Amino acid sequence: MLASTGIAAVGTAWYVAYLTVGAGSEALAYVFVPAGGVLATAAVLHMLRGGALNPVARRFWRALLGAAGVITIGYGWLAVDMLTHAAEARTRSMPLPAAACVAIGFGTAIWAVARVPVVLPGGVEWWRMVLDRTIAFLGCATVLWYLGLAPMFSAEEPWSRQAMALVGLAFLVAVGAATKVSYVLGGPVDRVALRLVAASGGVTAGIVAVLAVRFGYAAGIAAQAVVMPLTPVLATLGVAAQWRADLGLRRAPARSGVLLPYLAVLAVDVPLVAVAAGAPLGWPVRVVLVAAVVVTALVGARQFIAFRENARLLRNTRLQEERLQYEVSHDALTGLANRALFRDRLATALAATAPASVLLVDLDDFKTVNDLLGHGVGDRLLVSVARLLRAEVGEHGLPVRVAGDEFAVLLTGADADPEELAGRLLSALNRPISEHRLLVQASIGIAAAEPGATVDSVLRDADVAMYTAKQRGKASFVRYADGMGEPVLAHMQLGGELRRALDNDELRVVYQPILRLRDNRLVGVEALVRWHHPTRGVVCPGEFIPAAERTGLIVPLGRFVLRETCRQAAAWSSEYGPDALREAGLNVSARQLHDPDFVSDVAAALADSGLPCERLVLEVTESAVLRGQQVSRALYELDRMGIRLSLDDFGTGESSLSLLRAFPAAIVKLDKSFVDGIEIDDGQPAAADARQAVARAVIQLARALRLDTVAEGIENAAQAAVLRELGYTCGQGYHLARPMTADGVSRLLARQQTVASADR
Ligand code: C2E
Ligand code: MG
Ligand code: MG
Repeated sequence: MLASTGIAAVGTAWYVAYLTVGAGSEALAYVFVPAGGVLATAAVLHMLRGGALNPVARRFWRALLGAAGVITIGYGWLAVDMLTHAAEARTRSMPLPAAACVAIGFGTAIWAVARVPVVLPGGVEWWRMVLDRTIAFLGCATVLWYLGLAPMFSAEEPWSRQAMALVGLAFLVAVGAATKVSYVLGGPVDRVALRLVAASGGVTAGIVAVLAVRFGYAAGIAAQAVVMPLTPVLATLGVAAQWRADLGLRRAPARSGVLLPYLAVLAVDVPLVAVAAGAPLGWPVRVVLVAAVVVTALVGARQFIAFRENARLLRNTRLQEERLQYEVSHDALTGLANRALFRDRLATALAATAPASVLLVDLDDFKTVNDLLGHGVGDRLLVSVARLLRAEVGEHGLPVRVAGDEFAVLLTGADADPEELAGRLLSALNRPISEHRLLVQASIGIAAAEPGATVDSVLRDADVAMYTAKQRGKASFVRYADGMGEPVLAHMQLGGELRRALDNDELRVVYQPILRLRDNRLVGVEALVRWHHPTRGVVCPGEFIPAAERTGLIVPLGRFVLRETCRQAAAWSSEYGPDALREAGLNVSARQLHDPDFVSDVAAALADSGLPCERLVLEVTESAVLRGQQVSRALYELDRMGIRLSLDDFGTGESSLSLLRAFPAAIVKLDKSFVDGIEIDDGQPAAADARQAVARAVIQLARALRLDTVAEGIENAAQAAVLRELGYTCGQGYHLARPMTADGVSRLLARQQTVASADR
């Protein structure tokens, strides 16, 4: 770039010196163009070798390399010819081979520019582009007409028709090229580079043409020494622009050619001003006037399009704003107001000290629906609940989806009755909803805005009330009352304390013996966890297992029980012989079965303790087994490993019988509720039969399926006798043995060993 600019500068300096002091021969003027041409050719070659161009750009620049090379050769030829005939320089015309080279070179360059693809817009944009191009074309053409072609027509010494046709064609091509390249938006060839390349030919050709027409051949020297060396300068600038674009140094423009129509209007004004200044009103001037009117009309049309476009954009923006406003304040799935809008409205009601109350509606066991039937069904259920909520609430309140399966209603207005609405909601939910005919229930907490209440305090009260409703047995509503928060809070704190308990070793495992009913021989144990709480003493699992499941702490807790039980069972086996205790069982909750690491945890615990697989029993409840595919897979994998699976609390679930076929169970544990009262003999055989019906059915089924049986919760000898008679092989209960420490079990095992050896 520097070198070619230097050559152009030297050319200018030489021309000034030539004009003022007559320095050197006129033939020298012809040296600068080929010198610059060599540099421009080298620049393109250098980029083609080093730059990482895409194929289309490479093709363009290769054509340009050829063009620059041929043009340089042509001008070089001319320079040599001039220098060797320095004396007759002014009268010599261009040698034919040189002229041919230049013509071929420029033709190639124009062809290359014309081939660069342009990205065309669609719709209104396309019309605007067509108008813009026409305006730009007419504007440029008018100027060139007025400055160039018109003087040719009106010259005293008329130009030949061929010359005029040639110059006219050149004008059209130049103006067309300028219009095209000004609209290239992006694409393979850098748009700035393309414009510089087009300008390198067009601008200099234009100036030279105007110089020739206005000043005749006398301008030739100036053209050779000053104007035409600009061509290589602009070409090298174009190379630099492409290079910068490939290196990512320039950002792509959002729009291009925006200003061109306005420049065109200005351009048309130039001859108009000249006309106003008193130029004769010949026909070339009339052409200018017509062009001016057409251009003005087109600009008007373009403005109209722009106006309509702006109006449309404004409308779109407004719509978009409204949509955004709606989106940030509404739930996408159900279309109900979201938490943000809810808080906003509640705050407004509180600020106006208007009566307001909040109903917090939480679906019971929604997670089960999601787990069993999939999220698609869960989503549709939520949509149905939202529809129901909207219908029941009507215009007197704002239904809201707070999060997940939690909904809310904000009731304002003096005559609103939240209890009445809660009752209506619960009874509406009593009917199956959604296309899956699902029966869902909800727990509802109600809180009213007391004087001095804040958004957070009202929501907290409603939360506590809802929590209390859930604890009171679900499918009910509770209105917040003072003091209601403490037990709920205590329950919530349990989660936090449990974490600490795990870290501080406050958990212990006790074992409840399982005995053979025939001879009361110890055949197994069930591990039951206990929490030795520092202030509350021993806490039973019924109190903290639900909290552990909710918080996910059941996973580490369960792992602890698993490892402890395996270790202990292996220790008993090595101390009292492998047959002293047939099996050790422990409870596994659904959440643990969902844990992808569960199976490998079990395998590791067995491997680390050395306990054989078939000595471990995992107790699962029916509801846990029905928790979807992941759980099913885990259970089958455990079964394949040889671990025995036991169905705990059997008979209390809804699908106990069908479950037995679909699940690889080895043992069923008859639930305590079917053992209770089994022994009562009030002299009415029919009533006694009814009380024993389930126990009887279960043992028949177990026999048919070859499953082992354990009857749970045996509290007296009579129960044990009836169960034995019915065919139950094993039993567990306070009558047989209470849950005890590992030492207690050790003592039982020791006694059993002595009895056995005495028998022998
Ligand atoms: P479960 O698996 O059905 O365990 C039997 C429960 O019945 C135990 O209560 C046991 O102490 C009690 N029980 C045994 N015989 C009698 C009896 O004759 N009469 C009465 N009234 N009760 C009897 P516990 O230890 O309070 O455990 C309650 C439940 O907590 C267990 O029911 C089990 O589902 C769960 N659980 C206990 N330990 C764990 C554990 O480590 N992990 C998991 N996931 N759950 C556990
Ligand atoms: Mg159990
Ligand atoms: Mg049980």
